[in-house]
Amino acid sequence: MPVYEYECEHCGVFELYRSITAEPLRQCPKCGGQVRKLISRGVSVIFKGSGFHTTDYRSEEYRKKEKEEKSQVKDSTAASS
Ligand SMILES: [Zn+2]
Repeated sequence: MPVYEYECEHCGVFELYRSITAEPLRQCPKCGGQVRKLISRGVSVIFKGSGFHTTDYRSEEYRKKEKEEKSQVKDSTAASS
């Protein structure tokens, strides 16, 4: 199953396994807030109010953030199943 990335207005970026035939996610599974689908991993990710100066630095920060988000998603999945 493909992994999609979404951004919740409350929870931030998270990843979700979705069937390719499934409807696009519109609500956050955690808080029910509005989410938007991110186009593609690591491409043109814009952080609101970011103070990043270089593309390299931003992408490094993004990878760190991505790891954190991944473990958070895993935790919540384990807890809810
Ligand atoms: Zn949320």
